[in-house]
Amino acid sequence: MSKIELIQGDITQLKVDAIVNAANKSLLSGGGVDGAIHWAAGSDLLEECKTLDGCETGEAKITKGYKLPSKYVIHTVGPIWHEGLKNETDLLENCYLNSLRLAVENKLKTIAFPNISTGVYRFPKELAAQIALRTVSNFLKSTKKVKKVYFVCFDNENFNLYNSILKSNIQSK
Ligand code: ADP
Repeated sequence: MSKIELIQGDITQLKVDAIVNAANKSLLSGGGVDGAIHWAAGSDLLEECKTLDGCETGEAKITKGYKLPSKYVIHTVGPIWHEGLKNETDLLENCYLNSLRLAVENKLKTIAFPNISTGVYRFPKELAAQIALRTVSNFLKSTKKVKKVYFVCFDNENFNLYNSILKSNIQSK
């Protein structure tokens, strides 16, 4: 069975070991998926985030999940798209890698990612999907410690992009 699963919907509903938040550098809650996670987790999440001293782009930090069905939230800060001139592709890859490393360090086995940076940070969706799938697949080949990774797509465009990349990867095997 594949260790990667595609889901369309709201990441705050998922009962997994950790959901990943596409946060901003302050970690103090913004809009989009970040706002939805804070709303669903309750104000204790913000209180814990205040103790973390922010997070650099491409890095990741972990908190508890509070009222969420997921046990933990891994907060990572995606790059803002600047026409590809600011090392955005490497930084996005780092978001996925550092989130997965944190999951392994904390012995977490199931993890769900949103489509980091593809909302208000305007990263081109197709390129972001290719980076996300490639980085996660390679990581999963290197360890048995993570059992399942869910990609949770909120919008149709991302869902269709992930679907077609996953299908073409299976066909080319
Ligand atoms: P960023 O600032 O990293 O671009 P956004 O939150 O604006 O973060 O968008 C990242 C992605 O999260 C977008 O593809 C958006 O459609 C998606 N998104 C928004 N709300 C949710 C949610 N509740 N569950 C899963 N994905 C979501």
